[in-house]
Amino acid sequence: MHHTAAFLKSPGRAPARARQHQKFHLSKGWPDLAYHFLVDSLGNVYEGRPIDAVGDTATSYDPTGHFLIAAEGSFSEQGLPAIQLAGMAELLAWAAVTYNVDPSQMRGHKDWAPETSCPGNAVYAVIADGTLESMMRDAIARGVKQVRVVCTDAAKQYVKDLEATA
Ligand SMILES: [Zn+2]
Repeated sequence: MHHTAAFLKSPGRAPARARQHQKFHLSKGWPDLAYHFLVDSLGNVYEGRPIDAVGDTATSYDPTGHFLIAAEGSFSEQGLPAIQLAGMAELLAWAAVTYNVDPSQMRGHKDWAPETSCPGNAVYAVIADGTLESMMRDAIARGVKQVRVVCTDAAKQYVKDLEATA
């Protein structure tokens, strides 16, 4: 788990911010957005780097074999919305089932790289106290929602409507 460390004034800014993160990561010489998925403050999931490509971090650990998701926000400054937490849990549950990884293996970035504060206090708190892992287990028990990639006109309209709320 990561956070983007960007405090957004409105959820409607999330799609533009996702494009900015991607542009910034490309400018670092990385091949794409650092993360496989982003989850915004409404629980919307954005596809980032293809899942079979190793992610990137600006820190000292090797993320080979890791599923990198980032919560959009700056969680040492702000709280974690319940709907965003639910979106993270659903996505992580899907990944745990799809890639046969026990939910107990989920970690925050700083567990691998102590020099960073990522994923921020509010996200790290739900990792450290077991809330996120327990929500993953509940989602798995309910039957995991399948991730469906949407890149049609309907998706464009959804993003346009979201951005109109900014
Ligand atoms: Zn991170």
